[in-house]
Amino acid sequence: MREPSANVDIAEIAKFDSLASRWWDPEGEFRPLHEINPLRLDWIRQQLDLDGLKAADIGCGGGILAEAMAGAGAQVTGIDLAEGPLAVARLHQMESGAKVEYRRISAEELAEEAAGQFDVVTCLEMLEHVPQPSKTVEAVGALLRPGGHAFFSTINRNPKSFLFAIVGAEYVLKLLPSGTHEYQKFIRPSELDGWARHACLELQSSIGMHYNPLSKEYSLGPNLDVNYLMHFRQPESE
Ligand code: SAH
Repeated sequence: MREPSANVDIAEIAKFDSLASRWWDPEGEFRPLHEINPLRLDWIRQQLDLDGLKAADIGCGGGILAEAMAGAGAQVTGIDLAEGPLAVARLHQMESGAKVEYRRISAEELAEEAAGQFDVVTCLEMLEHVPQPSKTVEAVGALLRPGGHAFFSTINRNPKSFLFAIVGAEYVLKLLPSGTHEYQKFIRPSELDGWARHACLELQSSIGMHYNPLSKEYSLGPNLDVNYLMHFRQPESE
């Protein structure tokens, strides 16, 4: 058992564990992650060339992003605290041939073990599932070398995001199982930026992710009202 003080919500981990076998089903519960993956990977690759870089993917789940980054040439370590998704990730890479090192370890523990060792750290669709996201952001900052890149994605907190990300996505359109997200855990871009600044990370750019229920397609655009991604950098050392 982890210490009660650890930055993890056991109920969240149980939720992802129970759905693990469905992770790579493109029509299953994780369909939205499959659909947004090319968009978010492209956006990351517009900010930097991943080829040859050492990357950590925090809260990697079944490895959808981790495998894609490995495909783009990065040397990826995927970490998560849920056993089930990690087991599925390891099985999937045997089939796909992707090369990712998967580990069951928290971001904070990895940061103690491997501070300053990564060129890129991604932490997508994960912060809204942890009790103290600021601590995760701090660990991401600690994992990066000077000049390293951090990418986060999460969901904004306002009446529109409640309507779109919970009522719309979980209850009306049923894009996600009901209970996937809790409104109080959503994060405003200003909050994420504040925690990142505290971790010495400098904001480079941000972009919104939108779902069009008519075309059933996702796209990126300037509006950060609901889902959004942010790119930060650790300053270069003197
Ligand atoms: N980042 C992946 C998966 C998102 S789902 C993607 O975008 O494709 C959220 C993941 O975060 C789940 O796999 C869950 O197990 C993991 N997670 C939740 N709390 C965590 C914590 N405290 N530490 C590490 N991983 C966590």
